[in-house]
Amino acid sequence: MARILLSILLIVKLTSLLSQDIPVTVRLFSQQKVSRVTLTVQHESLDLVCDSLPAVTLLPGDAAEVNATPQGISIWHKGKSLKCRRQLLVVARREHSTYKIQVYGNKPTQRLYEGDLEITASEGLLRLVNVLNLERYVGGVIEAEAGSEHTLEYYKVQAVISRTYALNNLRRHATEGHSLCDGTHCQVYHGMPRHTDLAEAAAWMTRDVVVVDPSIRLISAVFHSNCGGQTVNAEAVWSKPEGYLVSCTDSFCVAMPNARWEKCIPKTYWEDYLDTHTTLCTDSAGIRQMMRIDSVRAVPLVPLRQDLKLKSTAFEVRVEGEQVKLMGRGFGHGVGLCQEGAINMARQGYRYNEIIHHYYKDVHLVPRTMLWFFEE
Ligand SMILES: [Zn+2]
Ligand SMILES: [Zn+2]
Repeated sequence: MARILLSILLIVKLTSLLSQDIPVTVRLFSQQKVSRVTLTVQHESLDLVCDSLPAVTLLPGDAAEVNATPQGISIWHKGKSLKCRRQLLVVARREHSTYKIQVYGNKPTQRLYEGDLEITASEGLLRLVNVLNLERYVGGVIEAEAGSEHTLEYYKVQAVISRTYALNNLRRHATEGHSLCDGTHCQVYHGMPRHTDLAEAAAWMTRDVVVVDPSIRLISAVFHSNCGGQTVNAEAVWSKPEGYLVSCTDSFCVAMPNARWEKCIPKTYWEDYLDTHTTLCTDSAGIRQMMRIDSVRAVPLVPLRQDLKLKSTAFEVRVEGEQVKLMGRGFGHGVGLCQEGAINMARQGYRYNEIIHHYYKDVHLVPRTMLWFFEE
């Protein structure tokens, strides 16, 4: 009897957890200095709430210009001006109210968003924070991170790892008052997908699924463009090993565009670089990738890759007259999921879960609600 009761309680608790949507807060245009934006309603309507007081409702086609001023925020709408001292809240009236945000300045950009928008101003600049459902955010990240010409199965891979990353990093910008930024520092998010319907479909079809390690902890779902045929251990790039980020052979990416690269540099430059960057081989050789110069001396490869702007740390060196030709494999740090390999696996008919298991060792795909269940 007690066991039946416990089972019922478990089911009730799981069901209540399953129905929870997670809102995420994402700082928009985080790489730009924004002092003026125009909001234009595309679908449904938006309420503008100024310092907690309802001010204006914008209907489809309506536009409002928002400026940072020394006193706070000014809004122009249909020839009238409105001022907010502390905050302008843009509230989406319906779940799928959508609006365009146009920013000006060095890189004028227009993107499509949904969810609410919190706008504050300081020192003449606007801070825009989008508040939206996790799954809608994931749909946007998929297109921004992966582009628009892939298979549905590959987008599912991207959906699961983007969701896992987001949940693992909800506090990354906590001191600034939001969860994530919209740049490469976190995950690229340029609003709603505009070039493929498959991104949103993939988020929906994998909704709630995340990747966890054997201790049911969200993994650090790192990925790179192309591993060149062999992924690398986490400790080869970062100092810490990780059980699920271990090297695997990858035959799926070797014929893909970023599998090979070449770079020619002047021989004198190369020799000068080696002269000034060679260090004694110590224990660090086991931790960080090194290029051996002789039996006791080597050059660390990770900084070399950055300094010489190489696509990867896997390369051979050939001297050709006054030039040195570096012939390399792969693109990126090489740890975790190889995107081009995953793209090819998806094309060949592998399922998204098989692809994830190929690149992350001994992980599980579980509903995110299971994490909280174990935490509580
Ligand atoms: Zn960030
Ligand atoms: Zn690969």
